[in-house]
Amino acid sequence: MSTRRKFMRSAGIISLAAAGGLASCSKQSLKYGDRNFNFNQQAFLFPKLKVSPDRIIRETVGLRPFRKTGFRVEKEMLDKKTIVHNYGHGGSGWSLSWGTGNLASDLAVATGEKKVAVMGCGTVGIATARLLQKKGCDVTIYAKDLHPNITSSVATGTWSPSSRVIEEENITPEFEEKWTKACNFSFNTFQQLLGLNQIVTWLDHYKMSNEVESGHGSHSSRLLIPGLLPESETISPENHPFHFAHANKQTTMVFNIPSYLAKQLNDFLSYGGEVVIKEFKTLEDVDALPEMCIVNCTGLGSKALFNDDNMMPISGQLSFLIPQPEFNYRISTPNGYAIPRKDGIILGGNAIRGNWDTTPDPDQTAKVVNALMEAMGQMKS
Ligand SMILES: Cc1cc2nc3c(=O)[nH]c(=O)nc-3n(C[C@H](O)[C@H](O)[C@H](O)COP(=O)(O)OP(=O)(O)OC[C@H]3O[C@@H](n4cnc5c(N)ncnc54)[C@H](O)[C@@H]3O)c2cc1C
Repeated sequence: MSTRRKFMRSAGIISLAAAGGLASCSKQSLKYGDRNFNFNQQAFLFPKLKVSPDRIIRETVGLRPFRKTGFRVEKEMLDKKTIVHNYGHGGSGWSLSWGTGNLASDLAVATGEKKVAVMGCGTVGIATARLLQKKGCDVTIYAKDLHPNITSSVATGTWSPSSRVIEEENITPEFEEKWTKACNFSFNTFQQLLGLNQIVTWLDHYKMSNEVESGHGSHSSRLLIPGLLPESETISPENHPFHFAHANKQTTMVFNIPSYLAKQLNDFLSYGGEVVIKEFKTLEDVDALPEMCIVNCTGLGSKALFNDDNMMPISGQLSFLIPQPEFNYRISTPNGYAIPRKDGIILGGNAIRGNWDTTPDPDQTAKVVNALMEAMGQMKS
């Protein structure tokens, strides 16, 4: 037999063996999937998160600017000046920034003033300033700090418009109406920011637990807009690779915070906006601004400055893992979540009411890292 034929024969044998191997592999995988191989397709979309303490590159503790009666968007007079408040967004400030910015900028525009000051340069302040520019105003932002030294920089940055946004018993029909308007406006604005260097992206969120879920967690049960996000769906254990009895999937949005803030601030400057670094210690400092109309977006800073007893911090600790570009889904377990962003994988999941301490707690780090290591260690391969 020629060498070539010998080769063809052995190659044939090998390819038959390979085909057999593939077939048995498919059969084996089918026990986790359906006849359309849905699980097999999905399996490739579930890369394992590389999680261990030595992959943590930084940790932060941020203070959510929670207001018991919900965010404040309203006018107040300070001598002859109009203050338009836009603060107190709790765990929803990223999500609602455009929406409450729209409501606040309408109130400012109604004063007839063309030169408007915005106090604060977080996500709420920048969105409000951009909307004021779009509505024809000349805007200066005054803030004591910019990214990365602001609460907006140490957020998870997901679409969560009803997370720790108000005490449930304080929800009034008026608040519900404002929230709904803000939520819809924000949602639509984020869709216009898709495709811009991934400052906003969509991704699948898998929520895992061993108990049947009861309640809405940190989210209000009344503040919901059906149909805004794709419906959440239950995934049966044979159709996901995780070792949990219950799994829910919902597709949602993530904001890549550093590039998002940089783009919005650059846009603001390109449209002629100015940023002045300035701390307001008293209301006299506010009154001394040259503008007659001032929009207050100082977040938690409003508690002391405007003497707002309704305001309190709810702290949240995050650990950042080395970026892992192939990790392309969000997973939440009862003891912590992992969310892929361009600047790292965010691990988090705690909330301490009334806590002003921004020192990371090693026990909290260990709790979340262990929860995710366990979830990854038990994944079906
Ligand atoms: C751990 C964590 C996770 C979060 N996750 C999410 C999430 O997934 N989705 C979501 O929608 N939201 C989330 N949030 C909430 C969100 O980050 C906040 O609601 C939002 O950042 C508030 O934005 P802001 O612009 O009002 O405040 P800030 O970002 O705090 O900005 C306030 C600005 O005002 C300035 N300022 C304050 N006081 C003064 C003063 N006296 N003088 C001058 N300037 C002053 C500051 O320097 C800053 O420029 C999270 C928050 C935390 C802490």
